[in-house]
Amino acid sequence: MKYSEIMVRYGELSTKGKNRRVFIGQLGHNVRQVLKQFDGVTVDAQRDRMHVSLHDQDAGPVMDTLQKVFGIETFSPVVKLEKNTPIEKIQETALEMISNQFKNGETFKISTNRQNKDYPLNTYQMNDEVGGYVLDHLKGIEAQMKHPDINLQIDVRMSGIYLSSQTIQGALGLPVGTGGRGTMMLSGGIDSPVAAYMAMKRGVKLDMIHFYSPPYTSEQALAKAKDLTAKLSALGGTVDFIQVPFAKIQEEIKEKVPEGYLMTVQRRMMLRIAAAITIARHCDGVFTGESLGQVASQTLESMRAINDVTNLPVLRPLLSLDKTEIIKIAEQIDTYDLSILPYEDCCTIFTPPAPKTKPKVEKAREFEQNIDVDGLMKEALDGIKISKIHPDDDYLNANEDVFSELL
Ligand code: ATP
Ligand code: MG
Repeated sequence: MKYSEIMVRYGELSTKGKNRRVFIGQLGHNVRQVLKQFDGVTVDAQRDRMHVSLHDQDAGPVMDTLQKVFGIETFSPVVKLEKNTPIEKIQETALEMISNQFKNGETFKISTNRQNKDYPLNTYQMNDEVGGYVLDHLKGIEAQMKHPDINLQIDVRMSGIYLSSQTIQGALGLPVGTGGRGTMMLSGGIDSPVAAYMAMKRGVKLDMIHFYSPPYTSEQALAKAKDLTAKLSALGGTVDFIQVPFAKIQEEIKEKVPEGYLMTVQRRMMLRIAAAITIARHCDGVFTGESLGQVASQTLESMRAINDVTNLPVLRPLLSLDKTEIIKIAEQIDTYDLSILPYEDCCTIFTPPAPKTKPKVEKAREFEQNIDVDGLMKEALDGIKISKIHPDDDYLNANEDVFSELL
């Protein structure tokens, strides 16, 4: 079936006046960004609906892309006909549409809505003519007015006649960019991409902060974190990826801090740096993928000892989810397969065998006096690199040649 446009219905847009305008404007912007890869496709975000005109592009891949964007409730592929299209053409189009999705034993109904009163057939006649034609030409189908399997809608408007028969569930949530700005501490693991997804679902625009530790961590580990970011950028458009060199800090800590506090002090340094970046970029909170009690550094006592270094909100969308629940979401959002690739990030490599599960704030502060906190922080901040990541970026594959040379 050749569709002319995708009609998008808005989700939980904030209800009133100005807010609604802002939300729709942002959603339009986000959709334009993720659809940039499709030549010729245009986006018109109106007050009640958004129209994505396909201009000869295939509907399938465009719909797959739209399905990930937060702020969309449902959408429908639509065939647009000229406003004076004769009934015969409407009948043929309706039959083709229904045949495409019909499975034996299913029922259907035609629902016409007529704004253009100049059209020679009224609502009743249109339903009758088109419904009768479908019944005559499609074996095994039955008409049913209440809860049909297929509801073909015909909108007779001044601008044209619109046919649609499928309503596809969108990603719901709020458009990314309408819920404030935050930073995300993104590792290459399973949890933090899921936490990012949940923050973005509430409309938060995230900048990703990733700590990497060459030569202890590989180019692949960095590329993996960037590819995870590319997956997440499909939810609402381009994302800034900030990579922070962390090896020097880890070496210092390893040398000068007692083993039981290696993890706590590393995490405090990470959060300090993340907080400084957050403030410098005018963001208002730091998100992490922590889940209560999952590992030693994620006990409540540990969170307190780490949180001590900043008074910014540290938000943990996964706090009370089980690992199996987190994995399920990771699979749904298609980050799982990337996350389990065996490229170690900076934490796994410097994880002490027995980190304290109940570190004390005072002790952490005391041991930190063995290292030059400000100097190390400044050096790390001077070494950051920022890249813009788009939905169709693929760092692991793009760099395959480079990697194979390194092996
Ligand atoms: P994840 O699956 O997200 O890596 P995890 O179960 O491995 O989490 P930890 O290693 O304790 O748990 O990390 C806890 C959180 O700290 C992560 O969810 C992430 O937000 C942050 N974090 C860990 N390592 C990094 C890193 N290299 N860069 C940025 N943030 C990190
Ligand atoms: Mg991890």
